[in-house]
Amino acid sequence: MDFKIAVIKGDGIGPEIVDEALKTLNVIGKKFGHHFTYTEVLMGGCAIDKTGVPLPDETVKICKESDSVLLGAVGGPKWDTLPGHLRPEKGLLGIRSALGLYANLRPATLYAPLKDACMLKPETVQDGLDILIVRELTGGIYFGERGRSQGKNGEEAYDTERYSVKEIERIARVAFKAARARKGKLASVDKANVLESSRLWREVIHRLANEYPDVECRDILVDNAAMQLVRDPAQFDVLLTSNMFGDILSDEASMITGSIGMLPSASLGEGRLGLYEPTHGSAPDIAGQGKANPIATIISAGMMLRYAFDLQKEANAIDEAVLSVLKKGFRTPDIAGVGGESKLLSTVEMGEAVRAEL
Ligand code: NAD
Repeated sequence: MDFKIAVIKGDGIGPEIVDEALKTLNVIGKKFGHHFTYTEVLMGGCAIDKTGVPLPDETVKICKESDSVLLGAVGGPKWDTLPGHLRPEKGLLGIRSALGLYANLRPATLYAPLKDACMLKPETVQDGLDILIVRELTGGIYFGERGRSQGKNGEEAYDTERYSVKEIERIARVAFKAARARKGKLASVDKANVLESSRLWREVIHRLANEYPDVECRDILVDNAAMQLVRDPAQFDVLLTSNMFGDILSDEASMITGSIGMLPSASLGEGRLGLYEPTHGSAPDIAGQGKANPIATIISAGMMLRYAFDLQKEANAIDEAVLSVLKKGFRTPDIAGVGGESKLLSTVEMGEAVRAEL
């Protein structure tokens, strides 16, 4: 099959790590008979330098015309003193909103060979971890009515958590489908013992669960979810959350895995067009030195195959190649020494090692 991918390399280590992901996609294409066409577009600091704005209209247009978007990272000290509307990060928020991306998928994977990097007791993460957090991204308290007023005790402030059935349904469907493509287990996080918005959330989830009988669905209160993530994280497969609960729980889950260069993410909207990127930033401290770990970006490209193009075998091949490389002791400097003796590799060499496994 043919797929058109818009590529935003961005700033700092962005170009180095994205190049390794593209070369990996090419190997997948050859092996499984697909053709990927890449159109490179500007966003972030490099876009500011060339066009004066962080998100040129041309970039939005090309992304919308593509089947999917692969992003490295944007930003860096060079642009830190610019006014807010001209900062590289504005490009990031702008592209998410222009593409209507309402679902954020963040896997927290602790590969067994890297379990020493985990902050939990070894026996808690014996076989590694593989959790996917599906977070609602464009609704809830971060977007609800807010304000300040004078109350009987002086100044007050409020923020409003508001979710419509439609918003809950569309994010829940993303989570049910993701669970179906994984181990078939979904935990829906809420605070239904206190919040009305959570009671509506729960009602909608229970109704939808009837449409996905192959997915084992349960509710979990957010305070319990936070506790269980450190007590027994391996019990989770897919965790579905509102915007704010997901903000907090996804950081907690990623900290458990201990390594920022390994964590991918996907932001999805209607249709198959989505944005796939590592969760880390542009790492200006190591840019251009061949020290960046390309694995988060390579796995992000794998998520694109899985969620945008429904190429499960191909995505599994990437995940298995990464695991194999780690088992052999290959490490970039950020994970050097984790899990015993390592063979230290540069960014390009790590990309090559993954491709050699394919
Ligand atoms: P960062 O994630 O870029 O770096 C934090 C630390 O992790 C650094 O020591 C860095 O060297 C290391 N690191 C990050 N990715 C790595 C990788 N792949 N391999 C090895 N080590 C890696 O966060 P920061 O330093 O706070 O931010 C740097 C810039 O990135 C800022 O301009 C920030 O705004 C931007 N940023 C962009 C995004 C994005 O584009 N999605 C996200 C976060 C931060």
